[in-house]
Amino acid sequence: MECWEAQELLEGIDFGAISADDALAVEAQRHQGECSTCRSALSQRLVWNARLADAMTDVSIPDGLESRLLEQLAPIIPAAVAVPLSRSSRRRWIVALATIASLMLIAALWQPWNPPASVVSLAIVDTHIASDLTDLTPYDQPAWKPELPRVWRSFFQLQPDLVHHFPAGTPSVLSVAAMVPFEFRASAAATPIRGRLVMIPASHFREPPEDGDFSAVTEVEYIPGFNRCVWREGNWVYICYVRSVGGAELHELMQLMRGSRNFT
Ligand SMILES: [Zn+2]
Repeated sequence: MECWEAQELLEGIDFGAISADDALAVEAQRHQGECSTCRSALSQRLVWNARLADAMTDVSIPDGLESRLLEQLAPIIPAAVAVPLSRSSRRRWIVALATIASLMLIAALWQPWNPPASVVSLAIVDTHIASDLTDLTPYDQPAWKPELPRVWRSFFQLQPDLVHHFPAGTPSVLSVAAMVPFEFRASAAATPIRGRLVMIPASHFREPPEDGDFSAVTEVEYIPGFNRCVWREGNWVYICYVRSVGGAELHELMQLMRGSRNFT
């Protein structure tokens, strides 16, 4: 047995993918007993695994990693199961299983920082946007500090007291989505435009849009009681909801912000 094969098998035993008393596993363990290269390789790998687990607590998760991994693995598993196994293909199958186990370990390590509950979809936000503000709790998520969209910073300051966890009841799953109510008046006499701005880290939003800017948004949708638009700036996805009476309030807000900016 060669060193690389013994090492794959030994790791497979550690992950529980291969029974320790399987003939190949026994052979790998015997090899390890006689091979100092494999013994030091394995102890280095254990140290590396521990460092990897540590490092991953601070890393953001690539979008769709889990589904991509499962797609990659799907063709391997049925083929291996369907074909009657000769001794050499059985060996390959077990090594493949050990590799799958390594991939699964990586997928499992990513999991705790990407629980499905913290991924917010547009439909979820739409459903809860009319919630009573008194049902929402103050935003308190040290890992994420919501920022106003670039264009908005000329008109608003983000008051920490007004930023809420969103939707209601989510602090229990450490929601990272934030919501702030706003009111915009073109002049003292003008009818105020009222709405709610939802801010979600792009890594926690299902299918985030391409990078853009509020002043370049063209698509406005209508849901009961509101006009809304969605855009992304870097790490944040923004969804702006405007209370709609006549239907054109969001377009009006965009025009007012664009127009005022031209004078500054
Ligand atoms: Zn060896």
